[in-house]
Amino acid sequence: NLPVIGFLGLGHMGLPMAINLHRAGYKLKGFDVVPAAVQAATEAGIETVDSGADAAKGVDIVLTMFPSGQHVLDAYRSYLLDTAAPNTLFLECSTIDVAQAREAAELAVAAGHRSADAPVSGGVVGAEAGTLTFMLGAEAADLAEITAVLEHMGKRIVHCGGHGSGQAAKICNNMLLGISMIGAAEAFVLGERLGLEHQALYDVISTASGQCWSVTTNCPVPGPVPASPANRDYQPGFAAALMAKDLGLASSSLEHTDTDAQMGALAAALYRKFSDEGNAGTDFSGIINAVREGTL
Ligand code: NAD
Repeated sequence: NLPVIGFLGLGHMGLPMAINLHRAGYKLKGFDVVPAAVQAATEAGIETVDSGADAAKGVDIVLTMFPSGQHVLDAYRSYLLDTAAPNTLFLECSTIDVAQAREAAELAVAAGHRSADAPVSGGVVGAEAGTLTFMLGAEAADLAEITAVLEHMGKRIVHCGGHGSGQAAKICNNMLLGISMIGAAEAFVLGERLGLEHQALYDVISTASGQCWSVTTNCPVPGPVPASPANRDYQPGFAAALMAKDLGLASSSLEHTDTDAQMGALAAALYRKFSDEGNAGTDFSGIINAVREGTL
């Protein structure tokens, strides 16, 4: 018998994830505060309910896919934890602050439930294809039950440790990604000014010690990697606004842990500026244009 899942947050990521669970045969109780999102879910054949509290009634798992940690904590506190039956599994898939993730888990456990953070990478394309990577912060005893559900939405599930560890792994990865993309952009712009063809520099970096995902998969110049957003005028991909959000979460963790990570802090500031100056919807590799123009 498959568990019944209350699925809250049917946005860009949540809806395709919910559709994959629906196709796998799960009974869902879908809800979003935006009526159009609820309607899109209904049209996809997903059962929807009239309120967030209703999504937590008579379910085995409550899955949330919200914009921020404040949305998660508000919903947990105001209606989800009270309404859910004891020992419900709270599966929190949004990308949120590590401290907030740990707070959400503590609240859930104190209310007699089980909790796991399972943020994702892979974007909307991965959500649609069911190929997301989940970074999991969970009790070992809950792993089998969690994996059975997540494997319908993703192809890799990495157990990173206890509560909050999934979020911690996600922001550490994305902090490195932000830094490496700016580095890749600077290397290609310097190469241009030294008279190097993009392809020549790519051929070296992609097989030498500068190799990284920001070059080999999401190359910031058009040409060498045909599928990279640079070839379609920097349509995302991974939007700069989302990179700025994740680096903001990284900055908050740097402060909480008194960590002197100057590159991470600088990447956060540069992506915040790039995003705020009209590039929120641009792929994060588009920052190469600001590097070239000297406007960062
Ligand atoms: P989104 O804004 O499209 O979707 C979030 C949805 O949550 C919205 O439809 C909103 O109305 C709904 N919501 C907010 N509060 C609610 C509540 N109390 N009850 C029910 N619904 C509520 O955002 P998204 O792009 O789907 O991203 C969701 C999360 O996934 C974010 O935390 C984001 O950082 C993370 N993420 C996004 C991507 C991406 O490429 N979009 C990739 C990885 C991770």
